[in-house]
Amino acid sequence: MDASSPRPAGRVYLIGAGPGAADLITVRGLRLLRAADVVCHDALGCADLLAEARPGAELVHVGKRGYCVGSTRQETIHDLMVDRARRGLTVVRLKGGDPCVFGRGGEEAEHLAAHGIPCEIVPGVTTAVGACAAAHIPLTHRSSGQAVALVTGHHDPDGPECTLDWAALAAMSNVVVYMGLRHLPRIAARLGDSGLSPDTPAAVIENATLPHQRVIDGTLADIALLAAAAEVQSPAVLVVGDCVRHRHTLLAAVSASEPLA
Ligand code: SAH
Repeated sequence: MDASSPRPAGRVYLIGAGPGAADLITVRGLRLLRAADVVCHDALGCADLLAEARPGAELVHVGKRGYCVGSTRQETIHDLMVDRARRGLTVVRLKGGDPCVFGRGGEEAEHLAAHGIPCEIVPGVTTAVGACAAAHIPLTHRSSGQAVALVTGHHDPDGPECTLDWAALAAMSNVVVYMGLRHLPRIAARLGDSGLSPDTPAAVIENATLPHQRVIDGTLADIALLAAAAEVQSPAVLVVGDCVRHRHTLLAAVSASEPLA
């Protein structure tokens, strides 16, 4: 390239790192991560994958505390991606789970599009899917309903920012609540007040897919108390619905067989 030729356009890949275990990233995500000039990554779900970046790649931590309150402003992340791509670099934006499930991947893709930066979204195993698999919960099962809802429990269920339709959720077969730890007692109460039986099986899965994963089993009536007694910390998801009932059957089958890989 001579001095007068324009710099090649860089591009950004918004890649899902998966729910926690490093080897749950997709093959495509890993291939792109290994080739990146710049890796702009979240705090959770990404740490072990950074060893896969090529030597000399710029690693920028733009993690969010508790995934909720930004420790890096979203605008800073936007500016960084645009700046590096305009310098002709290949940027990987590595995000926990799937980039577009409660991950602001949509906003980031829109910002890049508005600035004329080519962007590709590479899906990841979202926490609901990864956590249920790791806890032996079949997220959908022919015998337990025909739907599953993925919900954010970030907002106070009684506050003005929460727009969830609790009656509709109570009528769903299976509900997975992300970011719901802080409001767990109110979330369970709202589902119960809206018609979901107190006996409905429920589980809280902490640090899903990681060696220190914990699963708290209960019912809608007692899951908040059990999670508090176990001092469950973030990251954790709440799973409510008949799908949780199958866990014990599957666990019994697993423990009766040879240990899995
Ligand atoms: N984009 C991510 C979700 C980000 S929101 C995805 O697709 O999974 C962050 C929330 O995800 C956390 O508050 C928690 O509810 C959930 N989470 C992320 N990693 C988790 C893990 N390893 N175990 C349990 N929950 C997790």
